[in-house]
Amino acid sequence: MQHLHADIDHFRQRGTLYLSAPEAAELVRRHGLGRCMSAIADNIRADFLRWTDFDKTARVASHSRDGVIELMPVADAQRYSFKYVNGHPGNTRFGLSTVMAFGVLADVDTGAPLLLSELTLTTALRTAAMSALAAQTLARPDSRVMALIGNGAQSEFQALAFQHLVGITALRLFDVDGAATAKLVANLECSGLHITVCPSTADAVRDADIVTTVTADKAMALILTPDMIEPGMHLNAVGGDCPGKTELHGDILDAAAVFVEYEPQSRIEGEIQHQPADFPVTELWQVLRGERSGRTAADLVTVFDSVGFALEDFSALRFMFDTAMALGLGERITLIPQLEDPKNLYAMLAAPRHAAAPAPAVRLAA
Ligand code: NAD
Repeated sequence: MQHLHADIDHFRQRGTLYLSAPEAAELVRRHGLGRCMSAIADNIRADFLRWTDFDKTARVASHSRDGVIELMPVADAQRYSFKYVNGHPGNTRFGLSTVMAFGVLADVDTGAPLLLSELTLTTALRTAAMSALAAQTLARPDSRVMALIGNGAQSEFQALAFQHLVGITALRLFDVDGAATAKLVANLECSGLHITVCPSTADAVRDADIVTTVTADKAMALILTPDMIEPGMHLNAVGGDCPGKTELHGDILDAAAVFVEYEPQSRIEGEIQHQPADFPVTELWQVLRGERSGRTAADLVTVFDSVGFALEDFSALRFMFDTAMALGLGERITLIPQLEDPKNLYAMLAAPRHAAAPAPAVRLAA
């Protein structure tokens, strides 16, 4: 093949770029968390604006009693990506995260895996960036107060993305686990956000402009009920993201304008899984492109029924790859054999040609 771009040259000479979890964290520290989430939101917006360029599919899920393991592929004409991600709400009992992920960004012309990356931290960044982008598009522009229900691993990222990208200045927190809320309060101590810890979801939601639900329970939970909802609220429903795992009472959806990422996936996994197949929803890319309306009145209740779509990981992986290359982070690994003759895979098994002779195990008598 004649056409070899810089990424393929790098791959041929030095292998796949591997970005471990500590190196991804170093990237975020060096670049700045706010700048990272802003750049990922920009990438998501740019990719959603060219929605029709992508080969899309609902993710492939393997459900078990305690959780789910999913594969999330997507591609355009240049790049292919997939994410491996789980969701196990009981994991924290074993000292493991509820959500753990890694993924690959590959070259479409050759299939070469350019980047193998952690995606646990990156998922938190991209989910928060996606939530903020949806709220920029759908929430009332004067929104300043957000209720944050569920104060686990995702919550700091949600709080800071809404501060930096949406203009939220005050948070009202609730979690059934007081220790999770205390951790969130401590982590946000220097953020400049005005924080109120509330005794219940109903208290937290009162007078909020935006409500983010990011709880983890493998159940059809009723985190928000119709009596808690006030005209003009924007609901960012993040925690309900697989069959049998939802957070909102169905009557809330009936009375609201509901926006989703990729409708075929959201019908299976989102809050709308309990609604009839013809329940009206709008894909967010259509609003971003100006093809469908978003918020049409100040008192309209809008719902972003977030489940997490592969294109958001594609956007995030592009950002991590470009930024790691620019900052010289990550290491090169030989994930794929590097062959002198690509038709001679068998040659890999030959003993190394210039290996030093092994030292004799027994000293010979003189
Ligand atoms: P986590 O386990 O770290 O935190 C979840 C928190 O929810 C816990 O602190 C728990 O005590 C709290 N909680 C559970 N039930 C509650 C209730 N009834 N009221 C209040 N709080 C409650 O999990 P996480 O990594 O923060 O993820 C949270 C959820 O978000 C998970 O369900 C995950 O699958 C989902 N998620 C969605 C996306 C997306 O793109 N939509 C992305 C990442 C994670």
